[in-house]
Amino acid sequence: MKTTILEVAVCSPVKKNFHYLPIDGAAPQDLVGKRVKVPFGGRKLVGFVLSVLESEGDNFKLKEILEVLDDEIVISDETLALAKYISQNYICSQGEAFACAISPVMKCPKRKSKPKKIHPLSSQRHTLNESQNNALSLIKEALDGDIAKTFLIRGITASGKTEVYLNAIEYALSKGKSAIMLIPEISLTYQFIEIVQKRFGDLAGIWHSGISVTEKYRLFHKALRGEIKIMLGARSAVFAPFNNLGLIIIDEEHEHTYKQEQKPCYDAREIAAWRSDYHKGTLVFGSATPSLETYKSALDKKITLIEMPHRIDNKSLPTVNVLSLKDKILAGAFLLPETVAAISQALARKEQIIVFLNRRGFAPSIMCRKCETVYQCPHCSISMVYHKIHENLRCHYCGHSQKLPLICPKCGNKSMAFFGTGIQKAEDELQKLFPSARIFRLDGDSASLKGVYEQAYEGMKNERYDILLGTQMIAKGFDFPKVSLVCVLYADISLFVPDFKSAEKTFQLISQVAGRCGRGDTEGKVIIQTSRPEHYAIESAKNHDYEAFYRAEIVQREKLTYPPFCDTAKITVKNRDNDRAEKDAERFIQELENTRERENINVKVLGPAPSYIAKQYDIYRHNIIVKGKRGDILSLIEKTTGFKKEFSDTQIAIDISPLDLF
Ligand code: ADP
Ligand code: ZN
Repeated sequence: MKTTILEVAVCSPVKKNFHYLPIDGAAPQDLVGKRVKVPFGGRKLVGFVLSVLESEGDNFKLKEILEVLDDEIVISDETLALAKYISQNYICSQGEAFACAISPVMKCPKRKSKPKKIHPLSSQRHTLNESQNNALSLIKEALDGDIAKTFLIRGITASGKTEVYLNAIEYALSKGKSAIMLIPEISLTYQFIEIVQKRFGDLAGIWHSGISVTEKYRLFHKALRGEIKIMLGARSAVFAPFNNLGLIIIDEEHEHTYKQEQKPCYDAREIAAWRSDYHKGTLVFGSATPSLETYKSALDKKITLIEMPHRIDNKSLPTVNVLSLKDKILAGAFLLPETVAAISQALARKEQIIVFLNRRGFAPSIMCRKCETVYQCPHCSISMVYHKIHENLRCHYCGHSQKLPLICPKCGNKSMAFFGTGIQKAEDELQKLFPSARIFRLDGDSASLKGVYEQAYEGMKNERYDILLGTQMIAKGFDFPKVSLVCVLYADISLFVPDFKSAEKTFQLISQVAGRCGRGDTEGKVIIQTSRPEHYAIESAKNHDYEAFYRAEIVQREKLTYPPFCDTAKITVKNRDNDRAEKDAERFIQELENTRERENINVKVLGPAPSYIAKQYDIYRHNIIVKGKRGDILSLIEKTTGFKKEFSDTQIAIDISPLDLF
């Protein structure tokens, strides 16, 4: 007897597809391309119906699907191909890949509510200057052609990139195509959303992890049916299901938020490149400080470089003073006398000031003055941070909080003391030094991130604050004409992180923060306090010299064979028991080495070594690093089938092209 069965890719890590019987009353063929709920090992999981099969044998063991989640087909031919690419390229099951491209949780709205109409407003438009026109005409030419093309716009802060993006989108729309625009963190860029909505009204959808599952459904189907033409959003907006995708723009291309760190650990820039190839579309990366990988491929002429080297109206970039902290006595324990003087002068001139300190909390560590024990989180190997507002210690990794210990847990003396200056302490000290200044502190510790961000933004815009003190949250997007001074304190914190990207990150962050000033009519000045004034990351940020930074950094990368001269994978072996984690890591590495020799694959396998933060959430982590070409790394991992974990509670996470190697 023949039975009709369905092939379903289930959202589970198991790397094969499964068979189910159709639900009563539904024509099997109508289910293909839809999401369903299926029973799976005692649980209910979401699956994606791929095909209908006729089966000869006994199928009495097969289970019925439980529920159909979609009215309309959500899997296109493109999604099928893309899921294959994702599962091969980032090592996951097809079901997991589908779940990544098509959110498994989005729900069909029960009531059809009438959404508010947003009409495009006659938004402020600028007559483009020469470099904007040049950039735009190159992009238009690509949109006119029918081959995939990629650009990198390297444009300094306030060179007018946004206006180019908006015009490029308009042009794509005029040719009947759709566009995706990615920005790093949507909740922190709501003024950008406003600009897009003013310009395009209802044609633009806003997609990010914070929207409801019903809103996701609506947006997804609107994109599918072509009722919206633009998707603006964070990383996952790259999957917007347009079937005539003409243009993808990725602003602040160098930002780490484009890389997903959970499985599948995809990089939105790579997905964008794949989709732009598929649609023969145009891909535009933009940044003042491109990632080394992207800039190198521009220099190698794999993608086209567009330069926008001047600020709008030829405003000058701020002058940067680098002040050494070596052997210096600091006012309020964190400011050099020159910095204090510059802040006083700016305050006297009624200008605004941004103070950047990338350390949350009040004191970054507490230590015993007698035995020098640093108080660490009981669940993570990292020091606890004192938060004055809550009067407790907090772990910035797992969120564990506890009362301040009065006695040292090691030597028992009543000798615990605070060390270092976090942003909360800096606020107190700033207020003492400048009693009449109106200060706003913006860090990641408020309940409503969006709320405080808006408060900071509106308050600065309306000149209700004199000083904005913030962590890296203030590095992006802020555009205040009255800011004449930016102070970067402890610019080198990120240089001490033992990773091949730490210089690049430091350079990018300082350049971004420095770009926040001198955007109005007042000239800008930047002060950098650092204990590493001679470091090339600081030097080249001081000189606004991306190319000098690139030249110095690329030599290091080549010498030590790091990206862009190779690709990498980080395999993290985790267990609550440190010995077990280490043992299984050793076994895994042995198996990788066996595969490498047997198959003669040209890669380097390094480790295992404890992670930089060796314990997180009570789980010990040991890293294995693989270096080589992407294809070789993938085939090494794919062909390593002999590995059997000794301990069933060991977990193995594989990150392809990870953000860091520690
Ligand atoms: P970027 O994205 O490169 O940092 P923006 O696009 O934010 O730069 O532009 C900086 C400022 O210049 C914005 O306030 C913008 O409105 C303005 N602007 C952009 N293009 C022009 C132009 N052609 N003429 C005048 N002002 C412009
Ligand atoms: Zn912790």
